[in-house]
Amino acid sequence: MHWLGLEGRTALVTGGSSGIGRAIAEELGRCGVKVGVNYNSGQEAAEEVVRGIRDRGGEAIAIGGDVSKPEDCKAMVEQVVDRFGRLDILVNNAGIQRDAPFTELTLEDWRRVIDTNLTGAFLCAQEAVRRFRQQRPLPNAKARGNIIFINSVHQLIPWAGHVNYAASKGGLKLLMETLAQEVAHEKIRVNAIAPGAIRTPINRPAWEEESALNELLELIPYGRIGEPEDVANAAAWLASDLSDYVIGATLFIDGGMSLHPPFREGG
Ligand code: NAD
Repeated sequence: MHWLGLEGRTALVTGGSSGIGRAIAEELGRCGVKVGVNYNSGQEAAEEVVRGIRDRGGEAIAIGGDVSKPEDCKAMVEQVVDRFGRLDILVNNAGIQRDAPFTELTLEDWRRVIDTNLTGAFLCAQEAVRRFRQQRPLPNAKARGNIIFINSVHQLIPWAGHVNYAASKGGLKLLMETLAQEVAHEKIRVNAIAPGAIRTPINRPAWEEESALNELLELIPYGRIGEPEDVANAAAWLASDLSDYVIGATLFIDGGMSLHPPFREGG
């Protein structure tokens, strides 16, 4: 038995085909969770994640779907339930960036980011809460259901040139906290992780070139970029009963990025 005691539970990880979502799906799989690995465009990548989980003796399926579409979110939860019998954990991870200086940002790119990062998380959470209420709680689980939002340090730190992204993540913070407050009495736990700079395709230009990486490292007191596994380890803990009394919390996993690093030298 794995020390987190998650064996037999089921999860849906949105955007599980890449980066942080992929690492979370793989870690949950290692913990004995049956995982629905959602992808939007990366079917092959999602199937590779599924194969990896199965090769290690776990259970997983790839599930296509666009989180910004209500019918897709409903179908994604249904597919997990059809295959594994229930849904215990939702990881709302899918997210995109479409960056532009403020006056050049198109309405289309504003909407695409808000629709994916904020509305998508709302729609999936709504389907998950409905499902948690319908099903019989697991006898060996302390909570009735568990939702983890993957937010960002930009729920806190303003980010010039990324107003759509920062607005989506700021909105996600109060979506998460309000939902946590609303459903805690039903024993549904809702929390978030706010990663700093994690090495994934979403921010490749920030770490691929040495000069860009050195600039980035100026913002990270701990002196290294984060890896997807740094986030995945915390997600598995948040999904488990070991964090049972943690409600509406945001765990910053950022090597200290949110600690205002320039104040180390002055202020
Ligand atoms: P990524 O680009 O590697 O992964 C994003 C995932 O979301 C992909 O699997 C993609 O297919 C999926 N996705 C995008 N639009 C979708 C849609 N409409 N429906 C379903 N899936 C969709 O990036 P990542 O860094 O792994 O990002 C994952 C999450 O972590 C995002 O919410 C991002 O904002 C957040 N985050 C990342 C960092 C970082 O430094 N990498 C920092 C803070 C927060």
